[in-house]
Amino acid sequence: MSFSEYIQTVRAVLESLSPPEIVSVSRERENFRRKLIAHMAEITKHHGWYMPSFTSFILLDASVYSVEFQELAKSPDGFPWAVWKIFGINHLIDMAMTVYFQGIRTELEQWQKMGELVLESIYSSYCSENCFKRPADCSICTRPLYHETTTTCGHKFHVSCLEKWMLENTTCPLCRYEL
Ligand SMILES: [Zn+2]
Ligand SMILES: [Zn+2]
Repeated sequence: MSFSEYIQTVRAVLESLSPPEIVSVSRERENFRRKLIAHMAEITKHHGWYMPSFTSFILLDASVYSVEFQELAKSPDGFPWAVWKIFGINHLIDMAMTVYFQGIRTELEQWQKMGELVLESIYSSYCSENCFKRPADCSICTRPLYHETTTTCGHKFHVSCLEKWMLENTTCPLCRYEL
């Protein structure tokens, strides 16, 4: 298999993966990270390979602002998927090229396993609960509640929306509980 055929096949294998069905919970994350590093060392025959954390390097990469990224990130589950498609796959392709030039011929199954581990790592990233899911909408302004305040009756609104409402009213806008 020629170099370009090999790289294209690795890309096809990675592109065919789907989001993980089960995602590690936070206390398993450290074990999981070790598993990922161990597999990487196995593939690259190199123990000091630098694996950037996907959450930190997306902040440094301008392509997070690209149209392609924004389009992929639009769906409810879209943010981690966009991180995988734009950063994960390309990063693994770079790695596949480097490893190839070192004369190491890594089996495609190994790249598939690596892809699955990276996918799981992206989906179990620390901000998954906050930034991977679109929050509920504020029932006053109908925009997403990224920052919210909770009333004594347990309803959530934007602080500014609730403040405006409270200028004219004394009850919860949803359940009419006296606030
Ligand atoms: Zn609001
Ligand atoms: Zn209420």
